[in-house]
Amino acid sequence: MPVKGKIVWVSGPTVRADDMTGARMYEMVRVGEDRLVGEIIKLEGDIAFIQVYESTSGLKPGEPVEGTGQPLSVALGPGIIGKIYDGLQRPLTDIASRVGPFVHRGIYVFSLSLDKPWRFTPLVKGGDEIEGGWVLGTVPETPLIEHKILAPPTLPKAKVISVEPEGEYDLEHPIVTVETKQSRRELKMYHYWPVRRKRPYRRKIPAQVPLITGQRVLDTFFPLAKGGTAAIPGGFGTGKTVALHQISSWADAKVVVHVGCGERGNEMTEVLVKFPELKDPYSGRPLMERTILIANTSNMPVAAREASIYTGATLAEYYRDMGYDVVMVADSTSRWAEALREISGRLEEMPAEEGFPSYLASRLAEFYERAGRVEALGEPNRIGSVTLIGAVSPPGADFTEPVTMHTLRFVRTFWSLDTRLAYSRHYPAVNWMLSYSMYLDAIQEVWEREVDKDWRYLRDRAYEVLQREDALKEIVRLLGPEVLPDEEKLVLDVARMLKIGFLQQNAYDPVDTYSSPRKQVMLLRLFVEFYNRALDALEKGVRIDDVRAVKVAAKLPRVKFEVPEDRLEEIEGIRREIHEEFDELSAEVVRGIV
Ligand code: ADP
Ligand code: MG
Repeated sequence: MPVKGKIVWVSGPTVRADDMTGARMYEMVRVGEDRLVGEIIKLEGDIAFIQVYESTSGLKPGEPVEGTGQPLSVALGPGIIGKIYDGLQRPLTDIASRVGPFVHRGIYVFSLSLDKPWRFTPLVKGGDEIEGGWVLGTVPETPLIEHKILAPPTLPKAKVISVEPEGEYDLEHPIVTVETKQSRRELKMYHYWPVRRKRPYRRKIPAQVPLITGQRVLDTFFPLAKGGTAAIPGGFGTGKTVALHQISSWADAKVVVHVGCGERGNEMTEVLVKFPELKDPYSGRPLMERTILIANTSNMPVAAREASIYTGATLAEYYRDMGYDVVMVADSTSRWAEALREISGRLEEMPAEEGFPSYLASRLAEFYERAGRVEALGEPNRIGSVTLIGAVSPPGADFTEPVTMHTLRFVRTFWSLDTRLAYSRHYPAVNWMLSYSMYLDAIQEVWEREVDKDWRYLRDRAYEVLQREDALKEIVRLLGPEVLPDEEKLVLDVARMLKIGFLQQNAYDPVDTYSSPRKQVMLLRLFVEFYNRALDALEKGVRIDDVRAVKVAAKLPRVKFEVPEDRLEEIEGIRREIHEEFDELSAEVVRGIV
């Protein structure tokens, strides 16, 4: 019997109901005559505090509240890829076609298309012993994604009684019948999972494979591993949204979950309009064939925004369990935290720092804990990963505020966006002195094995130049660069080349928007070898002015624009020019000309 209670109090997105004996924490409920979707977030005796995922205007005390006996869950099966959902996995496109562009209150549209047939190819047969997480069969979901139909993770040991032959079935058609110790069960191509609970896996494995984003400052200097975590905090206009779009478009992941969380409606519209037009750079297919969008703009109910990052993480874990690398980006987790704050305030909970509830930190920790590279449950063996990347928009770009501070405790990569860099149009405005990555050592081997054995040396050598330039900045500001010895003038020169020719990357330039790992290393080598040869020349007595007159120096900052991915061998030619010019200079020194 479902719990049946009554509203006694309404405040913004929250409702209090009494007579709720038997209700459970995080149970989904139907609120009011309109049967709005809500979730119990606090219980005191028979009083339930409920956050309502839809506008509560017009709701009044006395109206009924009915329990569903189920936690807030998502439906997991073929048909998720390419969808645009709200924070509760309600398909926005479908709702739009039925009732116009706004999500109507109390309307219920199932997250997946129940009548659409999918071509199922079985992987298990009668007599097999299976359990939770086994791959029952496959379905071609999009030209880019083969969907693995998974037994629900909670299925106990069971024997397969019958399996449907290869063929087209809709989602409600049972495809496998099993017998457990207790009962006979029919399994369909989808199952439910509660969004606030991590999906289980067999074991976690180290995150050692780099996630390539094609963005040089990220991949080369502050790399992220598949299964890792990153935060990208920055003030207004510093490039958070552009960076996340770049990652969603270019990351070498199988599936991307893009959560637009509480940002202004027009920014979200841009995602909704732009994404469906983009092509996957690896296959040339529409990007939406590997993308899931979750949209919650600032004018949609706050509670749905609070749920959206869990809905996103659950969808990401589901594709991870198929053995895929999944990236989820959230723009922005600050807007999510503000939803948490608003709801907590309505419940009159004791506020902690800046009005955020005391559990802000633990909620952030729980969210980022859902990242990881894992071996999935069941057979055949699969390894998948969820990488989590959250934008943070601190008010006034003040990184000491609670959301930024707590986030930094739980993520292992920090891309710090800098208002001054953005102001001088240095994009991505990643501050190279404040940013860091704790994955550098872990992913080094893959870079060196698959891209270039000198990767770490080149990266560290270039970084050293940037660090030295930073240390010299103050002297230069006070006394000007002329007072520096030639060797330090060279550091300034090379740092400038690195900034313009490597760190800055124009998201809107067709060549520069993406750099493959190979191109990144080749470019880096140009700057490092130029630096090494110039240093050597200075030691041999060549003057800085003659080093500056080396013709190839002027070319280096433009190579990133001028050499596209299919002509990378041209970079090798430029590298030879560097060595030829410096060989020439050294020979002149020996002959006493310079
Ligand atoms: P935020 O989300 O941090 O408020 P946006 O991502 O919207 O900021 O970026 C603001 C503007 O900065 C963009 O409209 C664009 O003009 C510029 N920008 C940011 N990153 C880049 C980039 N990589 N290349 C070129 N322009 C950029
Ligand atoms: Mg933005």
